[in-house]
Amino acid sequence: MKSLVSVIVPVYNESENLYELHRRLTEVMSETGHDYEIVAVDDGSTDDTGEILRELSKKDPRVRAVILSRNFGKEVAMTAGLDHSHGEMVIPIDADLQDPPELIPAMIARADEGFDVVYAKRKQRKGEGVLKLATASLFYRFINMISSVNIPENTGDFRLMRRTVVNAVGMLRERKRFMKGLFAWVGYRQTEISYDREARFAGTTKWNFWKLWNFAIEGITSFSSLPLRVWSYLGAGIAVLAFVYAIIAIIRVLRYGIDVPGYASLLVVTLFLGGLQLITLGIIGEYIGRMFEEIKARPLYLVREVYGRGEELAAGPGARQTKRINPGRKKISGRKSGR
Ligand code: UDP
Ligand code: MG
Repeated sequence: MKSLVSVIVPVYNESENLYELHRRLTEVMSETGHDYEIVAVDDGSTDDTGEILRELSKKDPRVRAVILSRNFGKEVAMTAGLDHSHGEMVIPIDADLQDPPELIPAMIARADEGFDVVYAKRKQRKGEGVLKLATASLFYRFINMISSVNIPENTGDFRLMRRTVVNAVGMLRERKRFMKGLFAWVGYRQTEISYDREARFAGTTKWNFWKLWNFAIEGITSFSSLPLRVWSYLGAGIAVLAFVYAIIAIIRVLRYGIDVPGYASLLVVTLFLGGLQLITLGIIGEYIGRMFEEIKARPLYLVREVYGRGEELAAGPGARQTKRINPGRKKISGRKSGR
């Protein structure tokens, strides 16, 4: 059965990769025998990514480019892409060719066996350090231990989803988007295929240690409230210990009389408890900060322009939401194309 396949590409300063990506995607997709569209989302690039996308969309009617008003981050860019896709099957893929497009036919084949989600699991990750791999593995073990959804390790956003799943993910409009978690949360019939992750074709990664750290906190706070709750247990434990210690102290005083107790032990206890309280406050702060972000209810992203085939076709609840919130958008793009 022939169906429309949407390939979603979040793009941030990837001008060196775009032609090659387009070439390889075109090659692979025309082999599948399905109709396809490529939805590229320019996430506020500062190089000539936008120009190249415009050119590609002129040359190839299957390419649609959604230009965001600024950099919103990959997770949001991908959401914009999902909102602007209409395929029966949807495949997010990185622009840097770390996710080989050649895997797509195998994904489609698995989906045809009756799965709603086929995620690609990395066997190897070329061009990534030992430390990054070790911390990544630790992170996934930890998050799966403390959260109720099961987030598969060694998977990225490269996966195939059926329209029902895309719509389900589209309904989750949280501003702090830990996509892997959201994809896992919606459920449906999921399966995996494995592949070797390539090194980047060109350019450099946008990740650094600080961003990864924040990404990890994002994941944990979005999918578990255990960090908030654990303190009551710890507090209770310390209180019990303190009570036991008080009894021991009373007995000692009754038996041996008052001695001058150590100043050092007092200081240690005070500092320890003070430290714990500050950590707790910090963690509460993390959650309150996130609640603040959500409660402001700003739109996830703003679209500046859409190149290529019809923005009016935009599907998904998020697309409608942006339209409502940003009614000026149509006018702007209309003026542009009229020039
Ligand atoms: N990306 C994006 N917005 C950003 C950062 C990255 O759309 O703010 C895109 C980037 O262009 C690429 C994908 O997200 O297509 C993955 O980025 P990157 O290769 O830097 O991440 P890594 O592969 O190292 O995890
Ligand atoms: Mg990459």
